[in-house]
Amino acid sequence: MRPACESCDRALPAGGEAFICSYECTWCASCVAGFTDAACPNCGGDLQRRPTRSMRA
Ligand SMILES: [Zn+2]
Ligand SMILES: [Zn+2]
Repeated sequence: MRPACESCDRALPAGGEAFICSYECTWCASCVAGFTDAACPNCGGDLQRRPTRSMRA
């Protein structure tokens, strides 16, 4: 899992709000808000909110 948004390079600390796609591209919430259809602009994968530390996997 990447530590920063692939679009704007903003740091995405564990427990912070972040989104990942099916292929593990990582994005910050503000960039995701600009993506159409909530799809990854890199590969078209579905974007999902990254689990926070309260949801330890
Ligand atoms: Zn971003
Ligand atoms: Zn992707």
